Amino acid sequence: MSPEPPHPLGAVIFDVDGTLVDSERDGHRVAFNAAFAAAGLPYHWDVTEYGRLLEITGGYHRLAAFLAEAGHHPSEVPALAERLHADKTARFRDLVAHGHIPARPGVPELVRELGAAGVPLAVATTGSREWVTPLLRRLFARDTFAVVLTGTEVPALKPDPAVYDTVLARLGVPAERALAVEDSENGLRAALGAGLACVVVTNDYTRQQDFTGSAAVFDQFDGAGTGAGVFIAGLAP
Ligand SMILES: [Mg+2]
Repeated sequence: MSPEPPHPLGAVIFDVDGTLVDSERDGHRVAFNAAFAAAGLPYHWDVTEYGRLLEITGGYHRLAAFLAEAGHHPSEVPALAERLHADKTARFRDLVAHGHIPARPGVPELVRELGAAGVPLAVATTGSREWVTPLLRRLFARDTFAVVLTGTEVPALKPDPAVYDTVLARLGVPAERALAVEDSENGLRAALGAGLACVVVTNDYTRQQDFTGSAAVFDQFDGAGTGAGVFIAGLAP
């Protein structure tokens, strides 16, 4: 049985990639391709192939799996993946700094509404601290999120629930009183593993995934009263 959305709402915990921002297709993918080109490697991830690669969470792990599959010797894969990932992250940070990664439509309004209702907000992401911090700073008012936990601080990435377990502990809110917002099956599994109810807001890469166990599934945050924003804001006290 899936956990029901809590009422009253004690906290809302947001995923970043694909949830707060549509970062995969026009952010991470573009930065990976630029890193390949700069390293003189003949790889280019198109939109479809990147969708397949997204089944592996974490940019470094995604790269390492791809390089091994492309025939790189196992002994050179870790160092090469690490170097490419560092370069890709710097390039993604540039995209963030120049405002190329906007919030998903409806997200700023929802975040403001929940904040005004006094609902504590948090971020639980498997992205790296070095780009998550500047992204949140650019898109949201200071102190919007009471807790921000990234893949840099947790030992296991989603679908492991570690990131949610830690955020709940830091918020001091029991799982039954908090709601997670995710865009993907891996994220949903992580939230459910921590005992959280989870609303899924899909995007083009995740629409076909299995969201069994979610409290509700939407395909956008805004949209004339039919999006996730109205639903989630409606749970606030
Ligand atoms: Mg996501």
